[in-house]
Amino acid sequence: MGIGFRGISDMAMDSEVWYQCDRCTACCKWPGDVKVSDDEVRAIAGFLGMDEDVFIQDFTRLRMNRNGLSLIERENDECIMLEDGRCKIQEVKPFQCKGFPNRWNFPDWQKVCKAKPVAMEDAVRMGLVEDGDLSANHTMRGGDLK
Ligand code: SF4
Ligand code: SF4
Repeated sequence: MGIGFRGISDMAMDSEVWYQCDRCTACCKWPGDVKVSDDEVRAIAGFLGMDEDVFIQDFTRLRMNRNGLSLIERENDECIMLEDGRCKIQEVKPFQCKGFPNRWNFPDWQKVCKAKPVAMEDAVRMGLVEDGDLSANHTMRGGDLK
């Protein structure tokens, strides 16, 4: 998930609204880093049944600012984990992917993302988000994206 501004975060979120992803996969096709932490590398490698070192070798590269790892992309910029129109690591996808657009985003993100606003109380009732989940993880994980 990238675009030229991949990684720019905006912490000012509306806690009354949850934006429900419609799985358009646009954010999987933007150029830039898809950041993965050590824990995420471990989880993804395990999910794929791969040795961690082999996964790092085959599916990651240095981030553009060289301060960690990113998933690699195909020549057309789409994420290597996007297959047949879906994320093949959906269950363990990185926070950068899970967190967008509700826990981080960027100016004018709604021009390039089809996530639909749902009242937070409805989102909780429908099981889209756990009660308090947005604020509980926000500060801790959002900092990773700066
Ligand atoms: S977060 Fe937005 S851009 Fe990404 S798949 Fe969902 S709707 Fe599409
Ligand atoms: S890991 Fe999955 S959700 Fe994240 S950019 Fe790649 S395909 Fe998209």
